[in-house]
Amino acid sequence: MADKSATDCDSNIPEYEYIDVNTKAFHVGSFRDEWLRRLKPSDYSHREDSDEAAFEANFAKEMGISAETMSELKSVCSVASLRCHPEGEPLDTDVIPPNSTLKTLMQRKTKLDHNAARKINKNTRHDHYADEMERLTVCTKAETEANVVPEGDVILTLNVYYARVAEKYNGVRPHVTLVMTGSHSLADLRDAICCVSDLQVIGEFSNTPDMVPDFISKDHFKSAFFFFEGVFYNDMRFPECQDISSTTIEWATSRNFPAYSQAKMEDTRLVDLKIKVGFPYLYCHQGDCEHLVIITDIRLAHMNDCLDKKLYPLMTHKHRPITRKCAVCQIFIGRWLTTDDRFAPSHPCLFCDKCFRMLHYNAQGQKLSDFQAYAYVDRGAFN
Ligand SMILES: [Zn+2]
Ligand SMILES: [Zn+2]
Repeated sequence: MADKSATDCDSNIPEYEYIDVNTKAFHVGSFRDEWLRRLKPSDYSHREDSDEAAFEANFAKEMGISAETMSELKSVCSVASLRCHPEGEPLDTDVIPPNSTLKTLMQRKTKLDHNAARKINKNTRHDHYADEMERLTVCTKAETEANVVPEGDVILTLNVYYARVAEKYNGVRPHVTLVMTGSHSLADLRDAICCVSDLQVIGEFSNTPDMVPDFISKDHFKSAFFFFEGVFYNDMRFPECQDISSTTIEWATSRNFPAYSQAKMEDTRLVDLKIKVGFPYLYCHQGDCEHLVIITDIRLAHMNDCLDKKLYPLMTHKHRPITRKCAVCQIFIGRWLTTDDRFAPSHPCLFCDKCFRMLHYNAQGQKLSDFQAYAYVDRGAFN
């Protein structure tokens, strides 16, 4: 083991441990400081007053070209020169000019042909949602100065995966992708992860169906932790929170494993973390609901980023699992599972709230027969 040498050459600049997989561990805040030390304040400034003319003159000087060449280059390389439809006419993105040699257009044609062959509607809700937040928030400015993402803050991209992802999905696909700033705490991250186990309701409710909202797991079992690089970050924000990492820590200590340490989720900002980019870490809540968290990117905030703090954590992707529908109407997402139910076509059987109540209770809310009812939370209900 190269323990000593690892600390000696402890660098603040991420270096790949395994090419294209993950970097070595580094401290996010020190990495940011390293950046800020090497860059000029104008490089990461959010103000757009960096004069375009001055930039062009500078560019021409550095490249050793004349002002005429510079303006010619500007027009040849302008975005307008990529237009493939007559000027003044609206753009139809479904029309690809024939014999185009542009790679992007060739790829677009392949995709359109593929969609046409499979009769895929290009504007499915899914496509729309997946890039919606990223597209809508580009260049967003904050309304008040207090809500502006500070210059020189870092922006992290995090993928959060479903629990037991490897067992259920052959394509490993993130449940959500979140974009956060370095000043967010791990508690902010926890609150941004919406998992169906937080919304489960334990118990049988056929006699009191209206009581279900009072028994949501999230309100009763608030403990959770993240595990990054040998440190358990526990959520201790509420009096009922327990340190659920202690069992693992005691187990490891009793078996002479390297010692783990603990910290509070709410006191730890993302810039305080020591992490490896691309490495899978753990988020555990509701006792044993475990998710992988992978930080895929860390960079400095840019003036074209969403600069409104209030819009973060920004969800830029959400997987849409298929929803399970009510066995009666086949329209609404299931909300109730019943067993020993003589009104049901199957056992257990899934009902939407409306069908469930119409079928099982009279106008006074009394049960029409004996059955058990359990609240069902569909994983796709938050699409
Ligand atoms: Zn979960
Ligand atoms: Zn129904």
